[in-house]
Amino acid sequence: MDNIDSLTGFLNRSGCLQTAGRLFTDPQSTGKQLAVIWINFDRFKQINESFGHLEGDELIKNLALRFRKRVSGRAELSRMSGDEFVFLIPKYDRNEAQQFASEMASTVEEPIFIGKLTMRPTASIGIAIHEPGENAFALLERAEHAMFAAKNKGGNCIVCSGDEPIPGRLGITLAREELAIESILHTALETGGLSLHYQPIICANGQVEAVEALMRCSVNGENIPPGKFIPVAEKTGLVVRLGEWSLLQGAMQARQLHDAGYRTKAAINVSRAQLISAKFTLALHAALICSNVKPELVELELTESLFMDISETVQKNLKNALAAGVSLAIDDFGTGYSCLANLKDIPAKKLKLDRAFVTVLPEDRRALAVVRAMTQLGHELGMSVVAEGCEKQSEIDSLLEIGVDAIQGFFYARPMPEDSLLAWLKNRSSHD
Ligand code: C2E
Ligand code: CA
Ligand code: CA
Repeated sequence: MDNIDSLTGFLNRSGCLQTAGRLFTDPQSTGKQLAVIWINFDRFKQINESFGHLEGDELIKNLALRFRKRVSGRAELSRMSGDEFVFLIPKYDRNEAQQFASEMASTVEEPIFIGKLTMRPTASIGIAIHEPGENAFALLERAEHAMFAAKNKGGNCIVCSGDEPIPGRLGITLAREELAIESILHTALETGGLSLHYQPIICANGQVEAVEALMRCSVNGENIPPGKFIPVAEKTGLVVRLGEWSLLQGAMQARQLHDAGYRTKAAINVSRAQLISAKFTLALHAALICSNVKPELVELELTESLFMDISETVQKNLKNALAAGVSLAIDDFGTGYSCLANLKDIPAKKLKLDRAFVTVLPEDRRALAVVRAMTQLGHELGMSVVAEGCEKQSEIDSLLEIGVDAIQGFFYARPMPEDSLLAWLKNRSSHD
């Protein structure tokens, strides 16, 4: 393959390093920096071994010429080793670099004819953008590292430096942002950065039947939304500790509402990881005992997906929860893949229809038909039906007409901290 470099005029490894150093720009003056795109063909070794080195050479030459044509002066091209190419592009940002990398990926994928075979090669691509103070060697190393991450993901993909999966505390592979969230969650658990906000659920007759406890996480003034921290907590197993904390806090809130004269339940979210644990019953009993609340004022919201496969431990936990006197609700109904055959065996008193169905009401007649059918199903199974995520009067009108029993959504109230909830309830009862 020695003739390839001279044939196409690509830089070699040391030429690439030197050129990279020369292409650094002053970020203050341009706002854009040198981008390095590291390309490594997938399964090249296999091609060499099965077809021979001459064919391998031919393939590389073909691809190198394609790159040259496609890049047409936009980048400095280097060949680092047999099947590895690096492109240096001055004054690029991350988006531009990603776009360029996708363009190169499609260049690689165009069919190549070797003998009687049509090959459709793919590549693993790593991207690194120059950071202030970084030398050329470190920059190229980051791009290569990102390329390896793309290879480890199965190849045929692009990874930006900084987005590579790296091992987490529990040996689970987490992306960098997820690791940061995991660390924030640990801090929150240790320093009181968790809180619960409460969102009212309102019956068709206007009564506030329950408030849903929704977890909030704030550390050093930074608020992380549950949509971000709950999935990380689930991956790392931290959700069990978070869940135990919210069970206790939620139960204490139910007790406080009762003491303040309201007959309003606290609905507490319980994750799958909690329910599949043999310790769940103990945690529930501890929360009920410590808060000294009437168990009928506590409702557990369980996501629909839990019921796809109910293990013996889950069944036992659910039975024990019912025996303790709390009630169960099926959350996010309609979004999972629950087996309707299982639904009849679930001892829940409430079905919560996911917001996805509500947002398209009342214009979408088909969605209306689905909500009507789900509501009927819930009623026939002896459950009350709650619609989540209602933001407009028109949605509420359609839902009540269909026969939904209760409504939860920003239209009535957003989730709010404990003191605002008490003020909200007081204000509401003074208008009754
Ligand atoms: P979820 O259980 O379905 O909770 C309802 C979510 O819908 C809440 O989001 C709430 O703020 C939002 N919502 C309510 N009404 C409206 C509306 O009218 N419009 C819009 N756009 N959104 C509305 P939030 O608080 O961000 O929580 C997201 C999810 O995080 C929850 O979904 C739940 O799955 C999970 N989560 C929250 N707290 C806990 C917890 O303590 N334990 C567990 N395991 N999961 C929790
Ligand atoms: Ca919920
Ligand atoms: Ca829900």
